[in-house]
Amino acid sequence: MPEIPDLEAIRGFLNERLPGVTINEAEYRIPVVFRTTRSDFVSTLTGVEFGRTERQGKFLIFNLSSGHALVINAMLTGRFQYVTPDAKRHAKTCMALALSNGRELRYVDQRLMGKIYVVPGDRLGDVPQFAEMGPDALGVSEEEFNERIMKFRGQIKNMLVNHKFLAGIGNAYADEILFAARLHPYRRRTQLDGDDIARLYAAIGKTFAWATPLVAEQMQDELNYEERRDFLKIHRRGGEQCPVCGTRISEITAGQRITNFCRTCQPS
Ligand SMILES: [Zn+2]
Repeated sequence: MPEIPDLEAIRGFLNERLPGVTINEAEYRIPVVFRTTRSDFVSTLTGVEFGRTERQGKFLIFNLSSGHALVINAMLTGRFQYVTPDAKRHAKTCMALALSNGRELRYVDQRLMGKIYVVPGDRLGDVPQFAEMGPDALGVSEEEFNERIMKFRGQIKNMLVNHKFLAGIGNAYADEILFAARLHPYRRRTQLDGDDIARLYAAIGKTFAWATPLVAEQMQDELNYEERRDFLKIHRRGGEQCPVCGTRISEITAGQRITNFCRTCQPS
């Protein structure tokens, strides 16, 4: 699932290339992912220019010169491609935008769980989940973080992946953040002291700053991106040695969600 480092790397890639580029043709290929009709999608996007691409939580927001925004939540398996039109199309290519610079921007989604919206730029709140999202985990101030965290009482990993607390953190980076903060994922917020909370806040910013350039490096010229995460220190490394202390990394699976942590570095 794309999380903040993935989406920030994609956003950076697109902002170097898309602003000022015109959409010559907009293809609506697999209807199930669209939350707009084919005719609205085609008529709103055709002939307009891209502005800057922004992000809020797990949503990418493509601003358009018409004043509309193309909003995409890639969910579990959504991927973007920035290729020449002759590049072979993946069967699950949901959307293809032919661009005035000779490239094609595609959205491919193996499990078709992502969602594509087109809304007026000042009506982002109409997109489901938008209104209930907490502040973005990348931009939240320490003051706001400290204030919000007091409203949550459960286990801290559950809290980190809850978009109502903070938007943009998923299962993989929650593990990395907790490892960086030396906090056990199943500790409750009510068991954290001021020091723990300060380390947790710092670990969020540090983890994203470390991971985003590593993700960006893998994208190359075509936004080819397989969600490689071989640089992660703890997530999906169950059974390997902790890179800090050498203890065998623990792995617990609950509700299809894998949690990895080090019992020595992250004591309960
Ligand atoms: Zn360790």
